[in-house]
Amino acid sequence: MTIEGKNGGLTPGLYLLATPIGNARDITLRALDILRDADVLAAEDTRSLRRLMEIHGIALRDRPLLAYHDHNGAKMRPRLQGFLEQGMSLAYASEAGTPMISDPGFDLLPLAQEVGVPLISAPGPSAVVTALTLSGLPTDRFLFAGFLPNTSGARKKALQEVSTVPATLVFYESPKRLVAMLRDAQDMLGDRPATVCRELTKKFEESRTAPLSELAAHYDATPAKGEIVVLIGKGDSAKIREIDLETEVEQALQTMSVRDAADYVSARLGVKRRPVYQLAMRLTAQNGGD
Ligand code: SAM
Repeated sequence: MTIEGKNGGLTPGLYLLATPIGNARDITLRALDILRDADVLAAEDTRSLRRLMEIHGIALRDRPLLAYHDHNGAKMRPRLQGFLEQGMSLAYASEAGTPMISDPGFDLLPLAQEVGVPLISAPGPSAVVTALTLSGLPTDRFLFAGFLPNTSGARKKALQEVSTVPATLVFYESPKRLVAMLRDAQDMLGDRPATVCRELTKKFEESRTAPLSELAAHYDATPAKGEIVVLIGKGDSAKIREIDLETEVEQALQTMSVRDAADYVSARLGVKRRPVYQLAMRLTAQNGGD
């Protein structure tokens, strides 16, 4: 049996709505229908959602519009679950773009499962995909890594972790950390081609592609404003593997015999043991070892 929602007859359930990342007209017709018909609305930022609804002529009527974000999630979840248990349709939107993409929403999902109502996604804009389509960097494989840590040490470690991933790397970044991030990326990944996308879909939209060093110099001289996505092309994978292998073997040799280092590194990197053994022998000989 389908239970009808109180307002516009939407099937009860939890609706995740993607909203524009700049241009208010980048909203789907389906998202507008759901905003018009849902029994209850929840948003990371209620003012932004209210404004979006006003722009599109959707009245709130007597429906609740509740704030749901990282700081009040624990308190709000039982209340939102209550609405689902009453057979209502609940629509959630984050401040901009797609919920859960570097935004809240993830902890809402179990509610739908617990109550046994459908979870429905109304897809739409997200800065990561918008930036990918503009960067000119390969889109066949990409790794979205969200925001990097704020401190340089932790940021470099996070960059090292993705340094051998054979894919375009995509990060969200703040304007005040952009130059430091580009410099750390150059240190850890080499001077790869990269794109900085700024203010996507907005009046001062800009996409600039250049090697990391040039982008760092440009934004050092002309500080960036607004919202930013950084995309970094994949490195020369054969070179990465070579450097990576040599570093790993050198590190292993500090505490292990040639034999053990070869066993350890070949297992760790999933490569054949024989060339690793030969490399370990060569490095030991170069370093004057026995
Ligand atoms: N949920 C959003 C999405 O689907 O893209 C992302 C939210 S996250 C809190 C905000 C970050 O996304 C910004 O700091 C920026 O890095 C990126 N971003 C969002 N809108 C953007 C835009 N119009 N232009 C460039 N980057 C944007």
